This record gives sequence, structure tokens and C-alpha cells, in this order.
Amino acid sequence: MKFNDYKYVRPDMDSIKVKFTDLISKFNNAKNADEQYNVVKEINLIIKDIDTMFNLVTIRNSINTADEFYNSENEYVDNTVPVLQGILVEFNKALINSKFKEELKEKVYPQLFTLAEMEIKSFSDEVIPMLQEENKLVSEYAKLVSSAKINYDGKILNLSQMQPYMESKDRSVRKEAYEKWSEFFKENESAFDELYDKLVKIRHTIATKLGFKNFIELGYLRMNRSDYNADDVKKFREQVLKYIVPLSNELRERQKNRICVDSFKYYDIPFNFITGNPAPKGNKDWMVERAKKMYAELSPETEEFFNMMIEKDLFDLNTKPNKQSGGYCTFLQNYKSPFIFANFNGTKGDVDVLTHEAGHAFQAFNSSHFDSPSFIFPTYEASEIHSMSMEFITWPWMKLFFENDTDKYKFYHLADSFLFIPYGVTVDEFQHAVYENPNMTPDERKKVWRDIEKKYTPYKDYDNNEFLDKGTMWFKQGHIFMDPFYYVDYTLAQICAYQFWIKFNQDRKTAWNDYFNICKVGGSKPFLEILKTGNLKSPFEEETIKSVIGPVKSFLDSIDDKAL
Ligand code: ZN
Repeated sequence: MKFNDYKYVRPDMDSIKVKFTDLISKFNNAKNADEQYNVVKEINLIIKDIDTMFNLVTIRNSINTADEFYNSENEYVDNTVPVLQGILVEFNKALINSKFKEELKEKVYPQLFTLAEMEIKSFSDEVIPMLQEENKLVSEYAKLVSSAKINYDGKILNLSQMQPYMESKDRSVRKEAYEKWSEFFKENESAFDELYDKLVKIRHTIATKLGFKNFIELGYLRMNRSDYNADDVKKFREQVLKYIVPLSNELRERQKNRICVDSFKYYDIPFNFITGNPAPKGNKDWMVERAKKMYAELSPETEEFFNMMIEKDLFDLNTKPNKQSGGYCTFLQNYKSPFIFANFNGTKGDVDVLTHEAGHAFQAFNSSHFDSPSFIFPTYEASEIHSMSMEFITWPWMKLFFENDTDKYKFYHLADSFLFIPYGVTVDEFQHAVYENPNMTPDERKKVWRDIEKKYTPYKDYDNNEFLDKGTMWFKQGHIFMDPFYYVDYTLAQICAYQFWIKFNQDRKTAWNDYFNICKVGGSKPFLEILKTGNLKSPFEEETIKSVIGPVKSFLDSIDDKAL
């Protein structure tokens, strides 16, 4: 069966509710842990079913946001997820009050109990209408962003299709493209402001209704963070400021000299080489062919995985009108099938999809042995380790895609990932400030953004673009609207991916074992324990950031970037 044969049937929530009530009472009346375990298994199957259907809606809707059927099904999902959450909370309450708790924990993993406790704290029936409203606003944001129709170069382009122009060798094209791009946000400024204001306020209200001081703690619970808190993350950001920002500023200085500009402007940021940024030397089919060869040579496990992805058609890679922007990987539980969504545009980002998103897909595929649907993916900061590390693990094959630009690609990839970290924590610090002060006005939020931006990325000069200079660059950052507090996860994971990069440079066999082990463990453990499984050091420890910087810096210093 291929992806197109996967059949969508809207789950009948009324009959599901009845089934659940039945199963919960069966669970409560069970005579031993085994009987309870059987109920858990039955419930897992129902959840896998619903999850598969909802994911089919999300995928098909994101491939064509103008499709009326999946548009209305998407609305149905938005409204149904909170109801489902309510049903699951009832079950989770039964689970943590189990008479055979300790015995059951051994069968289902303690992490299932931790997740259940967090789920209970983040929900009450009272907040269902507000969660529905929140989901609706999030969908509106996605729709607004994908509605962009920019008239440029004689074409009508979406935001993602503007990217190649924003990276153009010709500085005036870059500048013009950025201005055109930012005009879309400027024209919709009040819509973005209003959407975000509503989202912040509704999240704050949900949090206070649930007994929290503000949304921050609830935001962490929603991210299923059980073994670190906002203070740890704050300390992490402080280390970024101390150790990463200085080297990142140096790298921008190198870039400025490399691309020969007197004064470095914001539209120079994506332009890295006079000779052009490294780009793959062929189209989508050519790249997929090469990725197939790469994964076959990398390991038997990756070979089996990637061939399955191709056979079942589990990709949607080309960009097209009405397609949602960005890229993601998700998992269809009933079919044990990952799915990769992307918008190829001829830049190096296309290869990143075949390594990064494939890293997620590979992990999920290797965790599909778990009964519990909650263990397919780990929490996000751990998930991103699999994907970001895969970007480095596949370095020896990058010549298949970049040919004579391979060194350029490697330099760029490493420098770019490093330069991303200060931006990543900017997004994080901004959100902490926003949810700590939910009554800030849209203008105050913009000022806060700009101040934080100046702290971590002091080189950002918006030239004559007053709109961006007043602090609006974050409108483009979907996570801020759609997945609060998610973003820092990329930076935490990056520090772990560097550890894998260093290990793979030393001993590929041991490094692959560590990597494969954390792929198989899925989400059955919390973040810090997954790190231990992979023999990784925690990014919250001060020594960790310090220890990865040395090898990163010496690799970058070893390359004569002006010659690239
Ligand atoms: Zn990812």
C-alpha cells in the first residue's frame, strides 16, 4: 500500500467516548496488573487509529490548503482534539490511581505515568472551549502565511519561493527580494498582531484557570518537559551569550570580508559566498536517487528504511501553489509509516530535508515497536537530536549532492548551524518575556523582540527597512504562534548533534551504536535519560557547550573560506 491508498474515515467520537467509558471502568475493576495492562493495550489501539486519521487530515490539508474536503476535516480535527484530550485525561487519571501502579509501571514504562501526570495538570473540561479557540487561531496563522502571493520577477510567488532570490549573488536582488518579502508581513501587520495578541491572552487565561501563575509553566508541561525547567533554560541561554555569541559575531565578520561588503546588512545574512551558496546539482528525483544510494551505504538499517519510504511514496517534496510552507516529518501509526513534507526550492535546504527530516523519520520507524503511541517520538528537544545529528552523520556522502561544492557545503552547514543558536535563544527569550507579561501591547512586544535580537545578534542591521527594525522579524517564525517554547529545542539538540559529529569523526562504529540506540528508545524516556542512553552530555552543564566549541572552531578555522 502506498500513501495515496491510506484511507481516511472520520473517527466517530460518540462511539469512541462510549468505548472509553467502558474501558476505563474495566481498568478500574481489574483484578490484577495484567488485566489492566490489557486495557492499556486496547486503548493504545484506539488512539493509534484516531491519530492516524488526524494525521492524514493534517498531511493532506497541508499539501493542498485549498482542498475543501480536508479543510473542513481540519476544522473538525481542531475542534475534536480538545474533546479527545478530555477523554484521555479521564483515562490518565485512572492510570495514575491504579491499584497496581508499581507493577503496571514496569510493563508500560514509568515515562507513561510521567506523561499522564503532565497531561492531567495541563487540562480541565473548563478550558475546552478556549483550547478550541486557540487551535482555530493557530490554523488562521498557518493560512495567513500560506496565503502570501508575492508578485516578483514576473511570477506570483509564496514565501518559500522567495528564498532563492533572498540568497541571490546580486546584492540589489537580495535587498529587493527581502523588501518584497517583508512587505507581505507589513501589509498584514495588524492581522499578525491581532492573532498573536489573542493567542497570548487565551493561553494566559487557560493557564490561570488551571491554577498557574502564567503560561510559562503550562507551556513547559505541554512540551512534556519533566526533567528540567525554565531556570535551566535561562542558564543555557546565558551560556550561549557567554560562549557562542562571541564566536558567532566573529563568523559574521568573516562572512562580511568573504562576500566583500563594507557594511554588513540584514539581506547579506543568507549570502555566504561570492561564488554563490552551495546548492544541490540536480532536481528532486536526482536528489532522491542519491539519497537512496547514501542510505544504502550508511547502514543496513538506513537502507531498509529509505527503500520503504520510496516504495510507499511517503514524501511530498516539491513546492506548489496552495501548499503550506515549511517542512515536517510525521508518523502514521496504523501503517507504521513516517511521512516527510517539504517545499523544495533548489537550495541546500532541499538536501537538509533528505537528512534532517529523514533523521526524524528513521527514528520514528525504529520506535514503531512500542505499544504506546506516546513513545513513537520522544519530546522535541530529543527528537531534534536524531534529525540534526543525521545531517552530520551523512557528511561523507555530501559529495553526491554538492560535487565540487562539498567543502563549501560543509563549512556553510557547520557555520550556519552555529550561527542559528543565538537566533534560536532569541526566539526563546522573547517568548518568556511575552508570557511573563501577557498584557504587553503589540508595540511593546516588538520593542522587546528588537532588544533581545540586539543582545544575541548585534550584527543585525535592518538598513532602511523601518518595519523590520522596529522588531517584527518574528512574524515569520511559525513556532512563536503555533508551538510556544518549542524553538529552544533546536538549540539544545544542536549542542548534542555536535557531540555526535565529534564522535563520528573519531569512531564511526561506536558513534553509530549510540545513535541507533537513541533511535530505538523513542519517547519511552525523558530528555536527560535519553542523553544518557546515547552517551551524550547534557547541554545544561556549562562544560558541555565549552567542550563542543573547540572542535567546531578548529574545523571552521581550518578552512580557507575566502577561497570557496
Ligand atoms: Zn526537526
